[in-house]
Formats: sequence, structure tokens, C-alpha cells
Amino acid sequence: MELSRLKNGDKGVIVKVKGYGAFRKRITEMGFVKGQVVEVIKNAPLKDPVEYKVMGYNISLRRSEARLVEVITNQTAEESIRTNVAQVIDDESLKVSAKTKGKQVKVALVGNPNSGKTTLFNFASGSKEHVGNYAGVTVEAKQAHYKHKSYDFDIIDLPGTYSLSAFSPEELYVRKFIIAEKPDIVVNVVDASNLERNLYLTAQLIDMDIKVVLALNMYDELLSKGDHFEHASCGKLMGIPMIPTVAKKGKGIGDLFDKLIEVYEDRDPIVRHIHINYGKVVEEGIVRLREKIEKNKGLADRVSPRFIAVKLLENDESTLFSLSTYSNFNEIKKTQEQEQKKIKSLLGESSETVITDSRYGFIAGALKETYKLGAKERRKITETIDAFVTHKLWGFPLFIFLLWAMFQATFTLGEYPLTWIENLIELLGASVGEAMDDGVLKSLIVDGVIGGVGGVIVFLPNILILFLFISFFEDSGYMARAAFIMDKIMHKIGLHGKSFIPLLMGFGCNVPAIMATRTIRNRNDRILTILINPFMSCSARLPVYILLLGTFFPENAGTMLLLIYFIGILLAVIIAKIFKKTILKAEEVPFVMELPPYRMPTLKATLIHMWNKAVEYLKKIGGIILVASIIIWFLGYYPKNEMLTKQHEQRKEQLRKEYDKKISSIKQDNPLKAEKIEQEKQQEIEQLSDLFQEEKYSKSYIGQIGKFIEPVLRPLGFDWKMSISILSGIAAKEIVVSTMGVLYKWGNENSEENLKQKLLENKALNPLVIFSFILFILIYFPCIAVIAVVKREIGWNWAIFVMFYSTALAWLVSFLFYQLGNLFI
Ligand code: GDP
Ligand code: MG
Repeated sequence: MELSRLKNGDKGVIVKVKGYGAFRKRITEMGFVKGQVVEVIKNAPLKDPVEYKVMGYNISLRRSEARLVEVITNQTAEESIRTNVAQVIDDESLKVSAKTKGKQVKVALVGNPNSGKTTLFNFASGSKEHVGNYAGVTVEAKQAHYKHKSYDFDIIDLPGTYSLSAFSPEELYVRKFIIAEKPDIVVNVVDASNLERNLYLTAQLIDMDIKVVLALNMYDELLSKGDHFEHASCGKLMGIPMIPTVAKKGKGIGDLFDKLIEVYEDRDPIVRHIHINYGKVVEEGIVRLREKIEKNKGLADRVSPRFIAVKLLENDESTLFSLSTYSNFNEIKKTQEQEQKKIKSLLGESSETVITDSRYGFIAGALKETYKLGAKERRKITETIDAFVTHKLWGFPLFIFLLWAMFQATFTLGEYPLTWIENLIELLGASVGEAMDDGVLKSLIVDGVIGGVGGVIVFLPNILILFLFISFFEDSGYMARAAFIMDKIMHKIGLHGKSFIPLLMGFGCNVPAIMATRTIRNRNDRILTILINPFMSCSARLPVYILLLGTFFPENAGTMLLLIYFIGILLAVIIAKIFKKTILKAEEVPFVMELPPYRMPTLKATLIHMWNKAVEYLKKIGGIILVASIIIWFLGYYPKNEMLTKQHEQRKEQLRKEYDKKISSIKQDNPLKAEKIEQEKQQEIEQLSDLFQEEKYSKSYIGQIGKFIEPVLRPLGFDWKMSISILSGIAAKEIVVSTMGVLYKWGNENSEENLKQKLLENKALNPLVIFSFILFILIYFPCIAVIAVVKREIGWNWAIFVMFYSTALAWLVSFLFYQLGNLFI
């Protein structure tokens, strides 16, 4: 009987906990485990919650929760042990009868029409037991008993359905049956010779978070087609055990029931609840709807809130109707409409279509990994594309080519708007400079704020182009294929495709990428994914690469950029392998890599995607980058060196006088030569002020800091200016660029061209040093924001570890590169 029906002081033994997986987990974690004695402490009629004592603790359960716990009491036990009237019923004998009672298993057969449910049902029930009827609307379900081992199975043959939507009475009936009758296990009977279509229903059963065992029926037909299906791995991917059966001949039925017992007793390691990934937009909608649904505890206890949310997004009338009695129904309905509209406008397809596509994508992904077609099989068009795109040999080069094209475009297309923005900034700097008097404030605004922030903001177009590509790849469905190709490689380093998504996101920004690792269940895998994430070059590092590669490797900047990204990936692989073997040993959990159909992304979604990134980036520029630029400026401006300034003024004056004298003496005779000397004079003066600026900087606070750490970085080829740039990059990687701008480009011209010129003129810099520098930037200390998020996700120890191991590794790699490079060049 239901636990909720026990009165004050009653005692009972738990027979089973019903309901969907997440619910059962919560209840059992509270101590309501099969075989345990429960005593009612307080159960006032109509009062919620009810108080119980279990395992020595007093625990409250909502009435709706208690209704799902089945117990056996003295009374019910007496009836079953009636033969032994004299016996006093104590806890022990109660437990024994609870165990017997607990071996009654209710099993529902669910599957497409003609998958062989009835055949299986008849074989199992044989001619032995009686066949009852479940009343349905226009459909009916048959019921029979089957004894297997010491278990008593109550089997219900449900009408055939393709889906669990409410389009047909059969579908509605099956769904209601599962929710209301709560079978202990659903046997999903599947036509193995037509898996793609049959698994669509399975995907919906997965959403329901119930115990499912899959009967791979008509296995004979699959074999006779010559196909090969690795059902064991597919079962692991989906978290559902799969048993091949040939119902017509009674083959595999015994195995099926053995498996049912194992699953019923929670002994099967394969069983787990997975989430089919419906894509970012839909998943956000699910989260929003879930929040509203979960406010109704009684409902959330009975049905998985995620399932309800998905059904609502699928525009399921019957689900909506069944919610109409709940107090926040209007709120739920409003959210449903909002989210549906949002999905439609962002993805250009109705939410139903998107969800259906995702399910088929999930199935395609699972089958792609586990299903091998027989040679004779004809292939469809999308499959042909996939056959090429995810091909063992060509898939990877294609992937690399597309990446290369992306980076190349980032450079070449980004060039134009970059110049425009640059001109704008230069104009701004010049006009502000003219309007203000010389002094601290002017220097702060022109050199510190406009120079620093402006130096970074010019790269906004490049970053936007990169994101444009990434979002296009994502929305078109190619990213999923890329993840698929990478999955094989990820397995080689002991991770799997699930880690690939956060790593891919790392190319944008490591902070959200690290947060995205939350989907990885295995803690060690998660830590490992976080540790190697900073090697994925984030967009903040892009300005540094663009500036330096564009200056020192102008001929093949795009290719070099790709090379840098690959070095990052390679390092991630090596480090992952090392960590996996040493500090982070863990087993892999397989999962499905979805392969959604290809789709042309809408312009709107892509633009919104891009705009969001732009806003994020601008916020960063307005915040941390602004502050850091001002700090860097301050450290470079102070302490004021009056002596040096005076000296400089004097020398300038002297130089001017000398030249003027020379000029006036020959002006009459040789005006051409005079002009030449005039030019010479300007150059000399400019050089002098450059020297002066350099000296001033080297004596400033920042110069002192730079000189202090220079010895450590000298063996890597870096001078004190580079050392300072590296230090400043700790705040955010973009600041490396603005710092270099301040340190290398003296004079008043705030343009990138000018900086490039100055960098090229600098004798301390050459391609070897620059590449060593880029390597260091790639590997060392991720920014402060990343450290903060690592700390939040996995704790201080790991955060500190990341700071040190990455910096040490950066030093080592740059050191080896520079020293070896010096030997060979
Ligand atoms: P239901 O609609 O799911 O109840 O399917 P049925 O049990 O009525 O079976 C449909 C057809 O498939 C019948 O003709 C069965 O004989 C046949 N069938 C059932 N199981 C198997 C099997 O394992 N192999 C083959 N080849 N045919 C089967
Ligand atoms: Mg039938």
C-alpha cells in the first residue's frame, strides 16, 4: 500500500519506491530504501508534510512523495502469512514478506506498431496465465503474468506508437499509462531492422527519466541484411541496456528477463539517465520552463520536469491541459509561448521541428558510432555528405581547411574595419590632444585611456568575424561533425567528445568554457578538461597574435595563426595525456554525439550571437582593460623625473640651435641643401625624444619592475618591455597589446601602423624572439577571470596549480624554442 495511507504510529517495511529516476534518487538518498522499516510520527489528514522515522532519523515527506513509496504493513502481511496465524509479526518477518512482495515487477511493453510486442507478450505469457484487459479510450492494453527466476512479472502489452506526443489516442494512452500506472520498468520493443525510426520513441522515453530496457527485436532480420550493430556500446551511450531478441522464435527472451531483474534491482551498471541535447536555445527554454514547473512540488514529484518542459516546447496540447489546474498555469503558459517564439525567431524553425531534429540527430550520432551498414546498403544524401565530412581520411583535413579559412578571413576581412576604427581613434586622440593643455591629465587621457583602450578596441572586427564563423559552424550543424571527428582523437587522450565542446568554446573565452564543463559527470575528467582549457587560445589573445604576426610574418599571417592554435591544441593533448596517467586517473563514460541534420542558419540568430559577444567584449574593454590601461600608464608616467626632462629639453634646444646655424649659413647659396638639413634636423629631434621616452620609461616604476624580472625572461629572448607586457597580460591578455603600444611606440601617433613600424625598427625584436614571445603568451598564466572561475568550479588548490604549472610550462617551451632556434638559425 501507499506510505501516505499509514496512520500515526503505524509501522511498515518499504517494498519499492516508484516514480522517475531523479525522484527515486532523492527519496532513496533520504533513507527510504527497499527493506527499511518506516514508522509514522505524525500524519494529520489533509496536512502536508508527513513526518516519518526511518533509519533512526525523523524525516518529513510531502504527501505527494509518500504516495510513491510502496510499503507492506502488519495488516497486509497478516493476510499473506495467514497460514501461520499464531505467529507474532515482528519487523523481521515483515521484512521477509516485503522482499517477496518486492519481487512483483510491473513491466510495460512499449514500441512502434509491428515491432513484435504482442509476439513477445504471447511468448512470455504462453498459454498459462489469464489475459486481462486494461480499459482505454479507444485502445486497450492486455495484461499477463510471467514467472522468471523467483520474480513475478506483471506484463502489460500497450498499443503501438511512434511517439509520445498527443497526436493519436494511442500515443496519449501510452504516455498516460506510464505516468499514472508507473510500471517498474518499460520494455521498449524495437524493430532492429529499422533502428533509426524506432529509436525516436526511445529518445522520448529517455526524456521521461524512467527505467527502460530495450528489446532489440527482429534481430534475425538485422543479421540477414548483413549489418553489424554494436548494441552493447550503443546501450552504454544511451544508458539503456539492449538485448537482442527474436520474439517469433522465442530467442533472447530469457536474457531479456534476466536483464529486467538486474535493472529492477539496480544492479546494472549501464543504466543511467542522460539528457538529449536540444541545442543551446531550446535548452535555455527548458531551464526557464522547468523553474516554473518545479514550483508545483506535487507535479514535479510525479513526472520529470524536464520531460514536461520538452513536451511544452513541442507544443503538446494535452500536457498543457494537464497543467491547467496548477496555480501558476498562466505563468507557465506565458513562458511556453515566449520560448516558442524565441526559438522560432532565432532558429527560423518551429520548436517542434527543432526538437524532432535534435532527437534524430541524437539517434544518428549514436548509430554512426555503433552501426555498420552491410555492403549492399544504399545511402541517403545527408549520409553521403556525412560520409565525406566525417570520413576517416578526408574529414580531418577538411576540418583543418575550414579552420584555416576561418582564420584567414579573420585577418583579411578584418583589415578594412580595423583601419576605419583606427582612424577614428587617431582622430579622437589628436583632437583631444589639441584641446587640452600639456600635463598629467592630457597624458592620462591621450596615452592612458585612448591609447590603451583604443589599442584593443581596433580588434573588435576581427573578433566579430571569428565569432561569426563559429556561430555559423554551430548553427549549420557542422560543429557537431567537427566534434564527432575530434571525438575519436579525444578518446585517444583519455577524454571524450563531451570535453570537446568546452574546449571549443575556449577559443572564444575560457571563462564560459570552464563553466560549460559542468556537464561532465566524471570529476577527474572535468578537472582535466578545465586544466587544459586555457591552451585553447581565447579571443583575447587574438589581438596579440594579429599585431605580432601581422608585423613580423605579414606574408603568411593566417597560416601562422592556425599554427599557433594548433600548438595550443597539441600542448593540451600532451598535458592531458600526462595528467591522465599521473594525477587524474579516471574511467570514461560514453555518451552520444548528436548529428543534427544540416540546416542553413538564419541571419538573425547569427547576428544576435555576434552582438552578444560584442557587448561582452565591450564591457570588458570598459572595465578591466580600462582600469589596467590606467594603471600601466600610471606606472609608466611616475615617478616624475624633472632632471631628465630638463636635460632633454636642453639637449633638444642645443641641437636645434646647431642646425639652425648651419641652415642659415648656407640658405642663401644652396636652398636645396638647406631643406635637406632641415629634414635631418627633424629626424634627429624625433630620435632624441624617442630615446628620452625610452629612458624615462626605463626609470619609471614600470621600467623598474620590468628590469627586475628581465633576468628571468632574458633566456627566452625577451627584453624588459616584453617582460612588462607579459606582466600586464595577467589582468587580461588584450592588455599585452596596449602595453606594447605604450612602451614601443613613442611619439604622438596612436595608430597601429605606427606601432608596427616601431616594432620593426626595434633591433631587439626579430621573428625568433617574437615567436618565442607568442608561445609564452599562448601558454602562461590565463587571465585573472579564468583563475577566479577555476577557483569557483573546483577550488583554490586547482586554481593555484593552474597559475603555476601554466607559467612554468610557458617558460620551458619558450626557452627551448628560443635556445634551439638560436642554435639553428
Ligand atoms: P506488434 O504490433 O508490436 O504487437 O507486433 P506483432 O507482435 O503483431 O508482430 C508483427 C509481425 O512481426 C508479426 O508478423 C510477427 O510474426 C513478426 N515478428 C515478431 N517478432 C519477430 C522477430 O523477432 N523476427 C521476425 N523476423 N519477425 C517477427
Ligand atoms: Mg500488437
